[in-house]
Amino acid sequence: MNILSRRAFLQSTRRAVTAGSLLGLGHPLLTFAADPAPAPAEAGVAVDYYDKLGVQKIINAAGTYTTLTASTMPPEVRRAVAQAALHPVRLKDLETAAGNYLAQRLQCEAALVSAGAASALTLGMAACITVANRPQVGEDIMDQIPTGVAPLKNEVIVQHAHRYEYDHALLNCGIRFVEVQTMSDYQAAFGPKTVMAHFFNAAEGGEIGREDWIRVAHEHQIPCMNDAAADVPPISNLWNYTKMGFDLVCFSGGKGMRGPQNAGLLLGRKDLIAAATENNSPNSARVGRGMKVAKEQIVGMVAAVDWFLSQTDEGMEKEFRRRADVIAAAVKAIPSVQCQVFIPPVANHIPHLLIRYDQQHVRMAPKEVAAALRSGSPSIELNPATGSNSASAGLPTDANTIVVGVWMLEEGEDRIVADRLRSVLSKAAEA
Ligand SMILES: *Cc1c(COP(=O)(O)O)cnc(C)c1O
Repeated sequence: MNILSRRAFLQSTRRAVTAGSLLGLGHPLLTFAADPAPAPAEAGVAVDYYDKLGVQKIINAAGTYTTLTASTMPPEVRRAVAQAALHPVRLKDLETAAGNYLAQRLQCEAALVSAGAASALTLGMAACITVANRPQVGEDIMDQIPTGVAPLKNEVIVQHAHRYEYDHALLNCGIRFVEVQTMSDYQAAFGPKTVMAHFFNAAEGGEIGREDWIRVAHEHQIPCMNDAAADVPPISNLWNYTKMGFDLVCFSGGKGMRGPQNAGLLLGRKDLIAAATENNSPNSARVGRGMKVAKEQIVGMVAAVDWFLSQTDEGMEKEFRRRADVIAAAVKAIPSVQCQVFIPPVANHIPHLLIRYDQQHVRMAPKEVAAALRSGSPSIELNPATGSNSASAGLPTDANTIVVGVWMLEEGEDRIVADRLRSVLSKAAEA
């Protein structure tokens, strides 16, 4: 069969399949299985595996939540990923070249693409253990992480208020935390086993600020790591913390930067990034072996940094405010509804829309509104802080507040969210 007649044949087969499944004749999957040709790829049509698997697509009016697949990649990044998938390369060459390029663009000594910020935390931790113990233990130190680390130098100093769910990413290396609260606790906490001082950039408590944290650690020649996973924009945070003196800084690639969801950045001191790289995949007997970063992720992360650096903080904020305004305009005439645009101070530092109302007038709790939007079509996810009495991720919420995270909406989805919220809230106001 020549290409043309073959394509015509495939198209007619596909039409028959569609017609057959519409009429309830035969199983479409079985019919496709009988087709020997890789039809969709050849015809340039991607199979929608969400549809094929029956997985519901959502409108993300929440934010960069991992369980909601965080962000989508902009077209430039998607194209770079697809292009990278076409060719094998030597992984080391790619890792090194990507690191050098990122270090130069992000104004730091060295950089490593990790499998996410949590992975960057583990690799940064492994690097600090390696550098601290290698003079006594030798190269064997990396084989010992995590199970042989307890008798070695393995203490990490942290403020009590900076303990969080990502502690686990550090504990994976066999470390022990030494908690401090006051400056004098901190100064007294350094000992012969100290390997690192850890800082959680978006922590809502803690007496000791970034500069003091760094200064005291450096007086003891101990490296400091900062977890700033969700803390862009502003774009300049990509170099603010390394320039401030943090020896290692972690970012998530799949949040504000809109790279692959399973990519991240570890930025910092050359010797530490080199040690992190040695502890990472593709090296087999290493703690990072299960955190493999594929060529598509590495390229996607680099392309996402290029994309993100081509944006401006003002441009992003303006667009997010525009979306918030579209939604606010649709609901603000409903009795008792008040709208406010709120920018959290550190993490997710972009405009969120807060919609508050009196349930005497709108007889539906925010959590019920979220459930109604979730079960509608298309399914919409509001920010999980909606209707929550405990402040979440710096958002001032309560039981009467709906939170709309507008930054991950795709083009035109602001209108859909606006219409659905208006319809649900105005119906509840008439009830
Ligand atoms: C999201 C987040 C992480 C994990 O980032 P991943 O890229 O999903 O691994 C780590 N730390 C903080 C503070 C985060 O917000």
